[in-house]
Amino acid sequence: MKAEAEIKYIHPVFKKKEYDPFTEATLQFERAAGYLDIEPWIYQRLKYPERELTVHMAITLDNGRVETFTGFRVQHSTLRGPAKGGIRFSPDASLSECKALAAWMTWKCAVVDLPFGGGKGAVICDALKMSENELEKLTKAYTRSIIDIIGPYKDVPAPDMFTNAQTMAWIADAYCQSTGRLEPAVVTGKPLCLWGSQGRAGATGTGLFYVLEETAKHLQMSLKGKKVAILGFGNVGSSVAKLAHKAGCKIVAVTDIFGGIHNENGIDPFELEKQTAKTNSVVQFPGTDAITNEELIELAVDILIPAAVEGQINKENADKVRAKVILEGANGPTTLEADEILNDNNVLVVPDILANAGGVTVSYLEWVQNLQRYFFTEEEILEKTEKKMKKAFWDICNTKEKQNISMREAAYILAVGRVAESMRALGKAA
Ligand code: NAD
Repeated sequence: MKAEAEIKYIHPVFKKKEYDPFTEATLQFERAAGYLDIEPWIYQRLKYPERELTVHMAITLDNGRVETFTGFRVQHSTLRGPAKGGIRFSPDASLSECKALAAWMTWKCAVVDLPFGGGKGAVICDALKMSENELEKLTKAYTRSIIDIIGPYKDVPAPDMFTNAQTMAWIADAYCQSTGRLEPAVVTGKPLCLWGSQGRAGATGTGLFYVLEETAKHLQMSLKGKKVAILGFGNVGSSVAKLAHKAGCKIVAVTDIFGGIHNENGIDPFELEKQTAKTNSVVQFPGTDAITNEELIELAVDILIPAAVEGQINKENADKVRAKVILEGANGPTTLEADEILNDNNVLVVPDILANAGGVTVSYLEWVQNLQRYFFTEEEILEKTEKKMKKAFWDICNTKEKQNISMREAAYILAVGRVAESMRALGKAA
């Protein structure tokens, strides 16, 4: 994960002080709760996370220096099943971000009707500047710190920004060292040799692409020749880029944390991936001009795919978006204020809790396979995922059309409604 060249990071477009992810997530929930007119006791229980854990880990770095890292694990809801959600390694991670991401996971799992609640974890660190050895030590120390609250029937982590299958394998090992047995179902997104699932690596991008196909049908447009701009070229951004390219879309711009590239004639994501495998960045890809995140967001494209951090499309730039469709690969990339501007401008925003649910859907299938010790083929995984994603898309689309609301509102109404219904059935008495 170490960057070859020392290139300066670019910071998220939003001004940090003005953007609080958990406030955004709460406002989204409150809108749906108001629309559904849910009972106050359900509203109160769903408004706040069930549990927030902050941990500190002192790690000896390769140079002998001891550094203390802070991490979090938040469980927003375990009502419909174990908490489910990724672990992010990022210098910008915070408790508020984890709380928002955990709540979004509750709604996402409900949108695709999975037997999970929502959770999220993070460690404040700069993974790109750490060695493999340091990352392994940090991951295992973090796992030991949160071990009491995770487990196959309690809380099942997965990869997120700057974590991957290797990170998940280290979590499985740390869990195994403490319990005395390998329990693969404790974490998803593992390597295949440790009972990961076929199709998990590119699952979020694959799911995004299924949703893009249905969006095109809904808008009666062909994907052939459509111009696409992608903000973030990691797991999610690169996998959706390859599928869109294969379907005939033209990927005209891509940015990452170091900068960005632009070519109106199209960029081959397969070739770009060969470069990022070596340099960790899209910057200076041959035949392209440099572009910033801000410029990418404002490009005249058909489809804009944010696939990096939260809050990138906000009140400062929403009015300048020229795309017809925003497909949210990232979690929380569009602020509520931006949502309203985009709606007024007839930009179709396909919300994160639907669009990027392919990852958690395959994670669910990985968990099922791990619990039953019986494995599906890649074709079976893709077929089950496609069915779930496309059903969720049309459920949401039909609600949106019938009630004349945005896709995000329709997705929240479906998700919050499902969780509230489960709560009612479980009963009010604590
Ligand atoms: P990743 O670490 O594989 O890639 C992240 C990409 O975003 C990298 O290219 C990175 O350089 C870029 N990036 C980070 N900060 C940036 C910034 N300020 N400006 C521009 N680019 C920036 O992460 P990922 O797994 O692809 O996750 C991306 C997003 O998708 C996150 O919001 C994550 O929560 C969400 N998501 C991921 C999954 C999954 O299965 N990995 C599932 C659902 C949602």
